[in-house]
Order: sequence, then structure tokens, then C-alpha cells
Amino acid sequence: MKTRAKQTLFKVQPYVPGRPIEDVKRELGLKEVIKLASNENPYPTSPKVLKAIAQAAKSVNRYPDGGCIALRQELAKQLKVKPEQLIFGNGSDEVIVMAVRAFVQPGDEVIFAKPSFLVYEIASCIEGAKLNAVPLMPDFRYDLKAMKEAVTSKTKIIFLGNPDNPSGQYISNTELKNFLKNLRSDILVFIDEAYYEFVSAKDYADSLNLLKIYKNLMVARTFSKIYGLAGLRIGYAMGDAELIDIIGRVREPFNVNSIAQAAALACLKDKAYYKKILTQINAERKYLYASFDTMRLEHIKSFTNFILVKTAIGGKAASQGLLKKGIIVRDMSGWGKPEYFRVSIGNAQENKKFIKALKDII
Ligand SMILES: *Cc1c(COP(=O)(O)O)cnc(C)c1O
Repeated sequence: MKTRAKQTLFKVQPYVPGRPIEDVKRELGLKEVIKLASNENPYPTSPKVLKAIAQAAKSVNRYPDGGCIALRQELAKQLKVKPEQLIFGNGSDEVIVMAVRAFVQPGDEVIFAKPSFLVYEIASCIEGAKLNAVPLMPDFRYDLKAMKEAVTSKTKIIFLGNPDNPSGQYISNTELKNFLKNLRSDILVFIDEAYYEFVSAKDYADSLNLLKIYKNLMVARTFSKIYGLAGLRIGYAMGDAELIDIIGRVREPFNVNSIAQAAALACLKDKAYYKKILTQINAERKYLYASFDTMRLEHIKSFTNFILVKTAIGGKAASQGLLKKGIIVRDMSGWGKPEYFRVSIGNAQENKKFIKALKDII
């Protein structure tokens, strides 16, 4: 059958997810396993959100609202955009895939950074795009000049992770404005703001404001990270209504399940709870930085809920050593940064255990 399949499938480097906790427990015979590998929110879900989930569970015999109407209205109000400027996905991953599917034909070019979020590359490769991966600068920030220079007549999409994963770095408002200025207006600029809520930098790009000027701009966010709904799969993107309509044409009618819709709406109505969680994550980030400093471990200051850490033994040995002690982190070898591993910021107890285990292995 292999020769009958789309041949682009075999060029794809498959996505390697962080290993599930239960899987590691079984393999290593461990009672306790801590996962700091997928940038999830380790804190408890808001009681109001849990209540909304329980309520929505009673109606799972019905198809979900394909238009996500209640959620759409609330989000449009909070973001001050029109409801028709929003598209929802089964995670923002799906929005990325839909955008690529709607725009990329074989031979078109897609530009993204390297290392960056692998879904940009995988989705583009499957549609037969020519991949144009632009290396990050030595300080792990985007080389926006090189990315702009990479544009050709065939460029369809440029992906900007802001802040990006795994670098944890952000693009400033001035940088983004300069990048968009004089860029061909028929190139889709897809800004992935999965970690938007974590960014404290004052000069962080105001993409929503730029949406008013640039009709080729799309901004994606997710409920998987700060809102802790990774397991329910729900994300969204905003853009000009015409652009959103185009991408909506490849969307499956019931792509976002009803429990996810209800939970996301409850999150939006309980922002105070998630603000408190953010304060704790910020405190834990400081604790991790201080611990790395004490251990004289080089690390990259991050604007997200994860940190890149450099060790003499390398990312692979470090992540394997930590795994034996029941702590899952992500080796960055597959991202072309073999000296590094990426650790998600856990809760206080998890972080203490992680630091203790790290001290033991290095
Ligand atoms: C986690 C993440 C996402 C969001 O994934 P979901 O599909 O919404 O769970 C998107 N982009 C980046 C860069 C991420 O790290």
C-alpha cells in the first residue's frame, strides 16, 4: 500500500510527544512519576470549570454545537473582535493544520524557525510544501531578517511562534511591525501565541491590534496551557473574517467536542483563578532559575512555562537519568540542540523533586 499513499507522508519526521505518566510507571515499575515534558498546567482545575464539565457530560448523547456559539460570543466580547473573526479547533494544533490545508498546494513554500514547534513543519510537509527552516540566532531569538529574506514568489505561510517553543523567547511589537511592513500582503503570517498568557514583557507584540491593519495575519491561542485543558483539546485563532471563512472551509462540522466548549467557556468566566495560578508559576520559575544558578547550569530565560537547560552530560543523558528517577523532561537532541533539555515548570513539590533528582545525576 505504501506506494499508493501520499508520498509526502514518508518525508515527515513524526511528532514525538512527551511520554504519558502511566506508561513510564508501568515500564520502570515506579509508583510516582512527574511529567514536566509537555508544558501542561500542573495545578488543579478550577472548581467552576469542573462543574461545567460535569454538567456538559450529561448531554454527550447530542452532537456538539458546531459553531461553538456560546464560547464564540464570550471570547469575541473579551477580545473585542467580531464573532466571525474566530475559528475553533480540536486544540490549536488543529487550527495550524487547517490553515496549512487551506492554503498550501504541492510546491508552495512555508517558512518557519528551527528549532520551533514541529507541527508547523509536519503539517506543511504532508501538504507537499517546500520547507524553509530558518535557524534561530545564537541567543535563541528569531532571525526575522533572515526569515523575511527567505520569502520567494512561492511563499504561502510564515509561522511565528510568539513566544516560541522550545526557545521560550518572544517577538517584540517593534520587531513584528517591522517584519509585517513591506511583507507581501498575500502571505499568511500565522502567529502562534500558545503561551500568550505567560508573557510579562512590556514590549511583547500586540498582535490583536495589528489584526486591524493586516488582513493576512492570523493569531492562534489555546486552552491547553495556562487554562489546563490539554486533555480536552480546544484552541482557537483570530483573523480577518474573510481569512477565517477560507480556513473554516476545511474544518470538520463537529471538530470541537461539547465538554471542551463548556470547559473553555467556564475558564473565560473564572479568569481570577487562573491569574492566581500564573502568580504561582512565576514564583516557581524564579525558584528554578535560582536552583540552576546554584548548580551553575546554563539556562535560557523564558517567557513561558518551560525552560531550556544546558548540561555537560547532554540532553539525552540528562533526560534518561531523570526518567529513571521518575521525572519526564524533554531531550532537545531531536530539535538540533543536543546539549539541552526542556523542563516544564511544575508545581512547588514537583519542582523540588526535579531539582533534587537533577543534582543527583549531574
Ligand atoms: C502547546 C502548543 C500549542 C497548543 O497545542 P494545542 O493543540 O492547543 O494543545 C501550540 N503551539 C505551540 C508552540 C505549543 O507549544
